[in-house]
Amino acid sequence: MFEQCPRRWRMRYVERLPDPPGDAALAGSFAHRVLELLMQRPPQQRTVEAAKAIAREEWPKVEADEDYRALGFDEAGEKQFRWKAWKAIEGLWVLEDPKGVEVRATEQDIEALLGGVPFRGIVDRLDQESDGLVVTDYKSGKAPSARFRRGRLDQVLLYAAAVTEATGEMPVHARLLYLGQQPVGIKVTQDELDGVVEKLGKTWSDINTACAADEFEPRTGPLCGWCPYVKRCPEGSSEVASRQARRDAEAAAFNDFEE
Ligand code: SF4
Repeated sequence: MFEQCPRRWRMRYVERLPDPPGDAALAGSFAHRVLELLMQRPPQQRTVEAAKAIAREEWPKVEADEDYRALGFDEAGEKQFRWKAWKAIEGLWVLEDPKGVEVRATEQDIEALLGGVPFRGIVDRLDQESDGLVVTDYKSGKAPSARFRRGRLDQVLLYAAAVTEATGEMPVHARLLYLGQQPVGIKVTQDELDGVVEKLGKTWSDINTACAADEFEPRTGPLCGWCPYVKRCPEGSSEVASRQARRDAEAAAFNDFEE
């Protein structure tokens, strides 16, 4: 978040302003929970039917969740939410046969000092493959295009660095499973780990510099449209307004052309 926009990071982590999860994030959390419980079962029990049964058991917890209730869904909205979550859950079978996965751990809470930076991450799954340990993280959002794939892998590479530091065992592979779409993975090497830890150190140093000077620049862009603090941010507000004006002008030009 700091790299995307230092001001947003300040509002979230210094001012601690609320950032309630939207429906996509909540549906993703529900899917994660179901897959976590599924993968804790013995391999032969990891079936679509078992996933359905787990989803039914877990659903009342979602319904009782304050953030979910705040979304204020009507019956059709709730149905759509459950469908979205189920598509993500079922999407695991598009990528792998869960019965064939040797799971070493799920939801593994890993803490380590990486290049002097305190790091904590919760790894969705640690799998044992024939050539070694694999870090696996589920994603329920849209898979990135080729241009953005490498950047998305920093998260799992940091998990791999933390696992190495905490256990002494270096994973051989790290991957993101974009449920229902595709896996995006990378071979773990010492060079990759050094690179990502160096990047983390740079961000950490930038955060400390920004905190010491209390200067957090706004970094405007398309993400301002999804920023929960846009109303408190003049630069972000004008970015959103000018993007909207551009879209309106394009639509008007297209309508003229149609006529
Ligand atoms: S609206 Fe944009 S510039 Fe402002 S804090 Fe949010 S992301 Fe940053």
